[in-house]
Amino acid sequence: MKFRNFKTVPKMIFGRGSFEQLDDVLAEERKQADDYVVFAVDHVHKDRPLRERIPALEQDMIIWVDTTDEPKTTYVDQLTEEVKAFGKGRNPVSVVGLGGGATLDMAKAISLMLTNEGGSAKYQGWDLIKNPAVHHVGIPTLSGTGAEASRTTVLTGPDKKLGMNSDYTVFDQIIMDPDLLQGVPTDQWFYTGMDCYIHNIEALNGTYINEFARAFGEKSLDLCYEVFLEDHPDADEKLMMASYMGGQSIAYSQVGACHALSYGLSYVLGYHHGIGNCIVMDVLDDFYPEGVKIFREMMKKHNITLPKGITKGMSEEDMDKMIKVASGLAPLWENVYGADWQTHVTPELLRSLYEKM
Ligand code: NAD
Ligand code: ZN
Repeated sequence: MKFRNFKTVPKMIFGRGSFEQLDDVLAEERKQADDYVVFAVDHVHKDRPLRERIPALEQDMIIWVDTTDEPKTTYVDQLTEEVKAFGKGRNPVSVVGLGGGATLDMAKAISLMLTNEGGSAKYQGWDLIKNPAVHHVGIPTLSGTGAEASRTTVLTGPDKKLGMNSDYTVFDQIIMDPDLLQGVPTDQWFYTGMDCYIHNIEALNGTYINEFARAFGEKSLDLCYEVFLEDHPDADEKLMMASYMGGQSIAYSQVGACHALSYGLSYVLGYHHGIGNCIVMDVLDDFYPEGVKIFREMMKKHNITLPKGITKGMSEEDMDKMIKVASGLAPLWENVYGADWQTHVTPELLRSLYEKM
């Protein structure tokens, strides 16, 4: 058996107001007077107070990342070309991602594509990246995905939705400032927060679980209870740490049935990761009875109603495609059922679950 040699984020800053230290972090990377930094910022912040606080110098580049759709390989390649044109052949000294999971993933992907030739679709998979990325910094303004901690950047490509998984993908620095979560609409806060909750449920109930992953997963789950079942004054701090620790937990274990089915939903019907996971979780009583029960309590407390009947009237072809995407995620199902997962994960089972959504 081979054990995972786990690369983690080497430097992190945590605390309310810590965003102010971004300037110092970047000053360490700026060696020559004309060195420049790229800020990839979620477009939602274009009209928000955070815009004025970005420590950009005159020579820097700000990209307002459009997160209407989840990151696509074509979009990564387009923005990478824009950066190359801006820098006239010189790479930035740092790429800073400021936003939710989508923006953090875009920043990771751009920093990788600046040093690896040939377009991002070529690198969707495991350890295909050849060269180290440009220095990159992740700063969440929405918490739950664990993208700040992970070694992947999830991209929709021409023929698959798959991350660029590599040690080079991991951020060189993250800044976790709970102040930045201000202003997130309740629905979005809930869906993205539930991504974290579901990571923990899947990891802790999976066959891949071990004490390393359990230590992070249990603590992250406790924090989720405090955030979503209680009215806690430090909820933002707690959710930020829950997200990071949930990310650490699944990095050393695996997600499960909810993520497998949710990938199918999002590939075919375009549902975003957070809400897609919630739609799936609501039909997984047989897989995670306790986890689903508490999930529904959380929904009730925050007045969340999920779309229903979303697969009604869909074509056979689309249904087959969803089933194919979901059943193709072997490690996730192995985490649910163990080595003989293929005897359990039949097209009939997956269809019956999709039909309940
Ligand atoms: P997101 O980044 O797609 O953002 C959702 C919405 O929230 C957007 O409209 C955005 O503009 C808005 N938003 C962000 N910050 C805000 C703020 N402070 N105030 C108001 N609005 C704000 O959502 P997400 O759930 O954080 O991320 C989902 C993405 O993360 C998906 O693309 C998914 O594939 C990816 N993901 C990556 C990993 C990983 O390990 N790399 C893990 C899980 C999910
Ligand atoms: Zn997830």
